[in-house]
Amino acid sequence: MVIVLKQGVKEEQQEQLIRWFEEQNLGVHVSQGEYQTVLGLIGDTASVDTDLIEGLDIVEAVKRISDPFKKANLRFHPEYSVIDCSGVKIGGGHFAVIAGPCSVESKEQVCGIAKQVQASGASLLRGGAFKPRTSPYDFQGLKAEGIEFLLEAKKQTGMPIVTEIMNANHLPLFEQVDVIQVGARNMQNFELLKELGRTKKPILLKRGLANTLKELLMSAEYIMAGGNENIILCERGIRTFETYTRNTLDLSAVPMLRELTHLPVVIDPSHACGIAKLVRPMAIAAAAAGADGLMIEVHNDPPRALCDGAQSLTPEQFDGTMKKVFAVREALKD
Ligand code: PEP
Ligand code: MN
Repeated sequence: MVIVLKQGVKEEQQEQLIRWFEEQNLGVHVSQGEYQTVLGLIGDTASVDTDLIEGLDIVEAVKRISDPFKKANLRFHPEYSVIDCSGVKIGGGHFAVIAGPCSVESKEQVCGIAKQVQASGASLLRGGAFKPRTSPYDFQGLKAEGIEFLLEAKKQTGMPIVTEIMNANHLPLFEQVDVIQVGARNMQNFELLKELGRTKKPILLKRGLANTLKELLMSAEYIMAGGNENIILCERGIRTFETYTRNTLDLSAVPMLRELTHLPVVIDPSHACGIAKLVRPMAIAAAAAGADGLMIEVHNDPPRALCDGAQSLTPEQFDGTMKKVFAVREALKD
């Protein structure tokens, strides 16, 4: 249930109302917007008398929300969230591009790519140190050393870094990581999500291979329920009957999520298509659809990449893609 307060309500009156709900064992989420304050009630609101609340002089409107996701809900928080990733903002009109190799392979590799993608307009550096691979015989990532190399690239470029966590026990290694990625395969690893809810770090939450948008929002809700509301959602393609592409990019996720949630939405065309030459048109389409950002894999030598070479752009291809993406954003400016 959401309660929209009238403009100019005194803090004391607001606090009194909140206390009254808390006495009824309800959680209260306060969204203090520029023009409106909205109280979101969490818990069993079945016995709450909406007519009684609507009759209070400080209340403008009361609405019941049947969606199971509350904190992630746009109606709980009517202003789009801006997530601050160590100074780089995503959401609420701020657009950011995350780029870098699928896996960190060496210090030279990741530092070199970081400088190139930054020059083309990327503002966050990605690189996997812990890799979720289908085969246990494939390269599993450089682990702690990979994070050290990312930190070195951050030192050299100033770019905040994004890297994937697979196990909550590894959290101490992520202390200086700016954005923690939860990969598609862990979207419903609820124990991991709960642990991340106890941190304050921005979380890039990728949609599972076979998950609905509601399930994606419920996973975000797990992290938010723990107290961490810094979430960026990522659509990275879902599994369908199509086999020419690695996955099927669900671009309608952008405008659909825009209706449902205040959280920013980033598109990853690399994992969605699995084919480098499809990345540019899909990145352009994502920008046109209103995505808050992109995540793109870039490798200095794609044929020799230890992971996901077929979908990786060269730095030159990435540069051309960025020019088109920024041109689309410019053309669609209000
Ligand atoms: C990745 O970003 O490198 C990755 C493994 O992505 P996903 O979890 O979407 O497959
Ligand atoms: Mn990858």
